[in-house]
Amino acid sequence: MSLSIYLHIPFCKHRCAYCDFNTYAGQEDSIPAYVNALIREIEFVGSRAKQMNVHTVFFGGGTPSLLSALQFDSILKALSSTFTFTADAEISIEANPGTISPEKLSAIRKSGINRISFGVQSANTEELRMLERIHDFFTVIEAVSTARKAGFDNLNLDLIYGLPEQTLASWQTTLHRIVDLHPEHISAYALTLEHGTPFGRWSSKGLLPLPDPDLAAEMYEYAEEFLETNGYVHYEISNWAKDKNQYSTISTQPSYACRHNLQYWRSLPYLAFGAGAHGYANGYRYSNALRIKTYIERLLHPSSFISHPFPLSLATVNQHKQTLQDDMSEYMLNNLRLTNVGVADSDFRLRFGSGLLDVYPKEIEELVKNGLLEIKTSEAPKNGETSEVYRLTKRGRLLGNQVFMRFV
Ligand code: SF4
Repeated sequence: MSLSIYLHIPFCKHRCAYCDFNTYAGQEDSIPAYVNALIREIEFVGSRAKQMNVHTVFFGGGTPSLLSALQFDSILKALSSTFTFTADAEISIEANPGTISPEKLSAIRKSGINRISFGVQSANTEELRMLERIHDFFTVIEAVSTARKAGFDNLNLDLIYGLPEQTLASWQTTLHRIVDLHPEHISAYALTLEHGTPFGRWSSKGLLPLPDPDLAAEMYEYAEEFLETNGYVHYEISNWAKDKNQYSTISTQPSYACRHNLQYWRSLPYLAFGAGAHGYANGYRYSNALRIKTYIERLLHPSSFISHPFPLSLATVNQHKQTLQDDMSEYMLNNLRLTNVGVADSDFRLRFGSGLLDVYPKEIEELVKNGLLEIKTSEAPKNGETSEVYRLTKRGRLLGNQVFMRFV
């Protein structure tokens, strides 16, 4: 089974008002030491791993595009001398459109990074200003053109809807402008107000007029319809991708689906490196120290070398062994997000040794009765046998959390 690798780059030029990711502004001086610590962590975990094939790598953040091409190169060299990359490995970075240059993009493309994801969020200047993003939409247009010239033919644009005072018309304009840029992949997430962020505080004081839930639902439904009409396959609740082939089956993914994220949604193993990074491998769920300084200290000046079974590292601060119950419940939560393929009874049975209706009879019956789950027959029989497939209905996609709660 192939493995995925996530690397967290927790630096940003400015902290956006809605963001609660583990990221810090004004600490760019620590980037060189941080890169050394990342390489140390890769070598440490790698020395405890058996030979492993890696088929996706994802630099997330934060703003990975703040690293230099040379720094990416040294991290990738550490990875490729520790793990075996598959020939077609997907290697992605997240980038802020305001932090790239033609030289940097060409150099990182040459170092092997073959997918880029720009955090666009909106095409509306006022909305971008309110989100405290450092770019405007012209910067996005330029960034996309620069990425194409640098040789990126797999490009994602990230959007947020349900913004304060956002109208349906403004959201429609954003979608139209984004589709005009012809990205291979589009993500659209509803704004969530996170505790501890400026948006969270302003909202609790009644200073942030969010669209009502019905309007946010209309925005989502418009995105579903408009993106599908424009050739994007809706393969995950918040993700759409183009397909090189004529997309025709409920059992496969479109060719430009993000293979790294599919690893998460299929509950398959991934290693995590970097401050606050979360991983899942060898039966463990684990996470690293959050703070940049602590992370660097733990890797570069460790106080002890007590035994660390694979995949734990000197930076791991939380870890637990998964129970069968944890794994089954997470499998449902993750796989049901895949709106086109859902959960096949045969796959669940293969992985856990029991059928879906043996483990979740009441939950499934209720969700189907309430119109949140539907049952289909798989179009791609395995070993000559078809299987029941459980997928979210259109209503279920809007009320995903209600569905997921039933499996926790
Ligand atoms: S650029 Fe992205 S990661 Fe950084 S603060 Fe803004 S939303 Fe958060």
